[in-house]
Amino acid sequence: GRYTKQDVIDLVRENDVEFIRLQFSDLFGTMKNVAITARQLEKALDNKCTFDGSSVDGFVRIEESDMYLYPDLDSFAIFPWNAGGNRVARLICDVYGQDGLPFAGDPRNVLKRVMVECQKMGYKFNVGPECEFFLFHTDEEGRPTTVSHEKAGYFDVAPLDLGESARRDMILNLEDMGFEIEASHHEVAPAQHEIDFKYDNALRTADNILTFKFIVKYIAKRHGLYASFMPKPITGVDGSGMHLNMSLWKNGKNIFADSKNDLGISEEAFHFMAGVMEHANEMCLITNPLVNSYKRIVPGYEAPVDVSWSPSNRSPLIRVPAARGSGTRLEFRSPDSAANPYLALAVSLAAGLDGIKRKLTPGKGSMKNQYEMAEGEKQEAGINTLPRDMKEALEIFKQSTYMKELLGDHIFNKYVEAKSAEWESYQKFVSQWEVDRYLYKI
Ligand code: GLN
Ligand code: MG
Ligand code: MG
Ligand code: MG
Repeated sequence: GRYTKQDVIDLVRENDVEFIRLQFSDLFGTMKNVAITARQLEKALDNKCTFDGSSVDGFVRIEESDMYLYPDLDSFAIFPWNAGGNRVARLICDVYGQDGLPFAGDPRNVLKRVMVECQKMGYKFNVGPECEFFLFHTDEEGRPTTVSHEKAGYFDVAPLDLGESARRDMILNLEDMGFEIEASHHEVAPAQHEIDFKYDNALRTADNILTFKFIVKYIAKRHGLYASFMPKPITGVDGSGMHLNMSLWKNGKNIFADSKNDLGISEEAFHFMAGVMEHANEMCLITNPLVNSYKRIVPGYEAPVDVSWSPSNRSPLIRVPAARGSGTRLEFRSPDSAANPYLALAVSLAAGLDGIKRKLTPGKGSMKNQYEMAEGEKQEAGINTLPRDMKEALEIFKQSTYMKELLGDHIFNKYVEAKSAEWESYQKFVSQWEVDRYLYKI
């Protein structure tokens, strides 16, 4: 590891850190934290900090509610700002039960399990996300709206733009926190942005995604803006995705690259791709978890609608970006930032590994724009569509013994329970669209 217990203690003292946030993720990827003072640090590093798990979404019942936090020492980082004059640090934690075993409902634990399997197969998995988000104004009460006064579009430079300076500030703070920012730009829709940070192993990347969202929101607020990662906040313009750039490595080498093979990518890369395609619909409820997620993956907005791949075109589920050598990767384009990153990375990796184990092949890549292909043409080419709405994704998920085994009964059952309730609630709600469409007509 990067840090020992003593390192963390020293870092806290040397930097005058007064508060430490012990962080973990609930079932839905919402970051939770228990704040302790520096005086409690040693106790925390001895895995003796407890919290009440019964009030965390998707965790446990009241009868068995005492949970333990085991800090991951390597995750130690100091927030780049002083909160009310105090320095604040964080440690990301694993959740354990009273029995001293990893808690079955801890999503970080699911990812760790899949990573062990990956290691057993001789690989290391690296992944880099592209998180897109909108910067909106808040109303007089400080509540987020979907209003922005911005007119800029893709890659535009807008000197007078509030969003532009907020984004610059986000990048500086992310860098202070140890992120290596590789690119950032204005996205296609007005007020939509993207900041890309460097790939890492799946656990670090999932941790990073949670931290990234936290920092982006925090800095946006300082600029009087609200950052939203909602998949489709505005009708009629692009939604926000979280493309995952994935590669497998062996002995420090990216084994998705193979100059002798078709397209310069290896057999393993093709099998991995086929595995992700094979399981794409079963895992869609994880990668695209909200009712709203399915309003993003519709034709015409650079989001995938079909289970297909392409060497270049941006409409399919998986694209092979042009970079080769160590930059060789598969870009998985359906996931959105509403996904729990631990679970999303776990299911993506597991699906890819399954493709390798079963030597699955992805079929011919499509050079066509999927939005322009007729339904019949797709059927002939054997192209399946992604679930059209959350209900369809939920039904497919519920039937999947593969997902149940992968996630474990606890997470699987809690997830189904929560998502069923979410759909029920949506189903009962009469929307403005219905009123506009039907009220005067019928
Ligand atoms: N915003 C698009 C999506 O929903 C992606 C746009 C892009 O990065 N080319 O996935
Ligand atoms: Mg991008
Ligand atoms: Mg983008
Ligand atoms: Mg991309």
